[in-house]
Amino acid sequence: MHDFVIDNAVVVDGSGGPARPGGVAVKDGRIAALGLDLGAARERVDARGLVLAPGIVDIHTHYDAQLTWDPFATPSTALGVTTVVIGNCGFTIAPCRPADRDLTLRNLTHVEGMALEALRAGVNWDFETYPEFLDAMERRGVVPNVASFVGHSSVRTYVLGADATKRAATDAEIAEMRRLVLEAARAGAIGFATSTLEQHNGENGIPMPSRLADEKELLALTGALGEAGRGVFMLTKGMTSTIPWLEKVAASNGRPVMIAAMFLDPGDPTRVFKELSEIESARTRGRELWAQVGCFPLGMEFTLRHPYPLEAFLAWRPAIEATDEADYRRVLADPSFRATLKAEAAIPGVPNRFSDKTWAHLAIMEVTRPEHRGLVGSTIAELAQASRRDPVDVFLDFGLDGELDAMFDCKLFNTDEGEVKKLLRHPHAAVALSDAGAHLSFLCDAGFGLHLFGHWVRERGDLTLPEAVKRVTSDVATAYRIKDRGRLAPGAWADLLLFDPKTVARGDKRRVNDLPTGASRLDTPAVGVQGVWVNGVRTVDERGVRRECGRPGRVLRDFGA
Ligand SMILES: [Zn+2]
Repeated sequence: MHDFVIDNAVVVDGSGGPARPGGVAVKDGRIAALGLDLGAARERVDARGLVLAPGIVDIHTHYDAQLTWDPFATPSTALGVTTVVIGNCGFTIAPCRPADRDLTLRNLTHVEGMALEALRAGVNWDFETYPEFLDAMERRGVVPNVASFVGHSSVRTYVLGADATKRAATDAEIAEMRRLVLEAARAGAIGFATSTLEQHNGENGIPMPSRLADEKELLALTGALGEAGRGVFMLTKGMTSTIPWLEKVAASNGRPVMIAAMFLDPGDPTRVFKELSEIESARTRGRELWAQVGCFPLGMEFTLRHPYPLEAFLAWRPAIEATDEADYRRVLADPSFRATLKAEAAIPGVPNRFSDKTWAHLAIMEVTRPEHRGLVGSTIAELAQASRRDPVDVFLDFGLDGELDAMFDCKLFNTDEGEVKKLLRHPHAAVALSDAGAHLSFLCDAGFGLHLFGHWVRERGDLTLPEAVKRVTSDVATAYRIKDRGRLAPGAWADLLLFDPKTVARGDKRRVNDLPTGASRLDTPAVGVQGVWVNGVRTVDERGVRRECGRPGRVLRDFGA
């Protein structure tokens, strides 16, 4: 007798093969049988008109801190995700000495877009080393399955202390960091993650520790994965990390390299395709390089008080360093500050940042002064054109005119969907980049899988549903050597997603206040999701997340080579 059967569904099994009528039978957390006539079960779910697929595997999340107080990894569970990978970009909370806890949180608060008070109140520091971190997560329990990178920034802080954001490491420090990465890989990390991205700054614009690493350090730490014979090297790359250099890393440690974030950049629309062809040629030499791509325009909501997208400009530095609001306003008004900013914005082809094309995708969403209400919906490019002024002046003057807290909506990358389609279909692409759990005040792309099925399959027809399901389930599970997940097959774990293909989508953005201390974040509800199961336990039903579902997820530690 099976524990339960879902039948009368359209089964899309994650392999990319055609959809078939039928269902699954589940026993002891695993799929016992697939197809028609599944036999007797204690419970049946009639899935008429619905699609049954593997649960979504989100390989790019930042739930490291949040999972210590929220086992659901809200909102990913509601959005059909059954496995999350944390520690991306190397922003982790382990290993961490008690004396460095506050420093670690202060570094995180900026990139996470989460209030420092919320992190201070929320994080449960019941660990110090990386193996203890995994053990503590296992003890507390999780709702989705969780796999975790060991993060470069934490390892660096553990060894260099406050110097981690200031200087290169000595040979002895590199050796100690390498030992920690090896220890983590052996304890069950899914790999080693870092960032060389120029926008990745901690408190007061100080670079995240990993950005101080030199080539020698990176080769040593990635070499630990080679020695362990397991793990993925994940990085979010800045200007200094070229594809040929990453191929060199792959050649030296023999491990896969997952390269984020591969966006279509309106400031340099051919670059991503050039990099993809470099990845293709690395593949012909046997180096497993992956391009991590996303299915949303990289949209951000932000205010001029916390202007994350602008912080990638070197010329923005004086604004980051301003000591208080009066000083900040003085910087924004300074003509020489504006002149250097305009000059930098006009340099074409600078990767991954705001360009002079961005003004057309930067719209005013909410204003604080009633007399500005008529401007809501306008883009800065439109206002600049109408007033024949430079967009930099229009934008900064608007902020100074009582609108430092006005909300802007900015679409930086992936705005041309006809081109993005090519990224989503590329054989060496991994579809992810939700950044779930990070940038909470600016964006919420945790529903990327539902958006792929609703927008790119149903509305645009750029992918078939079996192709789209494969992209966010078995393709990424395979890239990360996650065993027995991402596919509906006899013997695989019963991580399942049941949805209505006629309506599936990511819902509209809204602000909610469910972080510790009542801090707010952006949220998007699921549309069309009828059920989610993790290891055979139902975590979501027609009404949404089942708070009483227990903690059926596993901390994944055993990965294939
Ligand atoms: Zn990230």
